[in-house]
Amino acid sequence: MKKIQMVDLKGQYSEIKEVVNASIENVIENTAFINGPKVHEFQKNLEDYLGVKHVIPCANGTDALQIAMMGLGLKPGDEVITADFTFAATVEVIALLNLTPVLVDVNEDDFNIDVEAVKKAITPKTKAIVPVHLFGQCANMEAILKIAKQHNLFVIEDNAQAIGANYKFGDGTKAKAGTIGDVGATSFFPSKNLGAYGDGGAIFTNNDDLAHTIRGIVNHGMYKRYHHDVVGVNSRLDSIQAAVLDAKLPKLDAYNTSRQSAARKYNEAFKNFKNIITPKLTNGCGDTICDTCDCHVFHQYTLRIKDANRDALVKHLNENGIPCGVYYPIPLHKQKAYLDERYNETDFKVTNQLVKDVISLPMHTELEDEQIECITSTIIKFING
Ligand SMILES: *Cc1c(COP(=O)(O)O)cnc(C)c1O
Repeated sequence: MKKIQMVDLKGQYSEIKEVVNASIENVIENTAFINGPKVHEFQKNLEDYLGVKHVIPCANGTDALQIAMMGLGLKPGDEVITADFTFAATVEVIALLNLTPVLVDVNEDDFNIDVEAVKKAITPKTKAIVPVHLFGQCANMEAILKIAKQHNLFVIEDNAQAIGANYKFGDGTKAKAGTIGDVGATSFFPSKNLGAYGDGGAIFTNNDDLAHTIRGIVNHGMYKRYHHDVVGVNSRLDSIQAAVLDAKLPKLDAYNTSRQSAARKYNEAFKNFKNIITPKLTNGCGDTICDTCDCHVFHQYTLRIKDANRDALVKHLNENGIPCGVYYPIPLHKQKAYLDERYNETDFKVTNQLVKDVISLPMHTELEDEQIECITSTIIKFING
């Protein structure tokens, strides 16, 4: 059996080596390293894939979030509501822009922002909600859009983990994750579902004016060469990264299908163990991951371990050569950088519990059946023993 890895970028590369190498070589031959034609090609192809009017590439996913917030004209003191259970980038950019982060609890079923908690957190200063489509599945966008409309708030989707996932509205219509709110931000960090060979990110929007504003912000606030109308940043996607991404984009759906297939096998193996809670599909997809599943792209496959020692399980897996991750071990509201005396522990019941229960298993496009069998049997033996 091949060594089990949390992500297997090498295995994936070997399948697409020729296309990727040729595409990178082409950029080098043309020396159009910054803002070259490849960046524009990738941008167009991603717009078509997502069905969104504007994709604005940038340097990484954290920048994408920051630039989205700058583009919306959020001002110091504006309150921005986001999930307590996510990667710190989301709250970091809110704080960096001198906006006020307001962290709220999540749902235990899908780890996504709790709509009731969002409602409770709204004040006259609230200006935006940032749902994070955690682990590859959309937050309850229909409810979030409704709240946003009622209170005149912007919706900024953190889509770093869910590129390619669809969201199904109550009336059956679908939209790609990241294209539903006012603006979406994604990351092309190598281990993300669409990963570059370095850093990369992008902003999505259907709003022409916002797209124009953002195109200037990513380029030093310039709308006309050497005319700086607003304070901007320097945030670009390298042409070499665009070459890699453009070669991988046609494979994204197949990559996501392989992840779903691995998730289905994991689910099947764990189905009779009541202290191993498998990921729930909450976007009208039912309980099983069907063959045409498009609502969850399994950036992570995350279990909740009940009535057993999660930390001992992590140790046991590592000792047996099985990598795993705890995403995330500390709620953001308990992180030193984001402490706020307004927070009340009783408002974070779910996150406070999730950080003790969750464990993410190896998840990538090259997982083999015997590896999944080894991982699941090791876990089951530990839980039963
Ligand atoms: C990866 C990630 C980011 C940041 O992306 P970078 O490209 O690493 O800056 C932001 N939010 C979430 C939820 C992420 O998973």
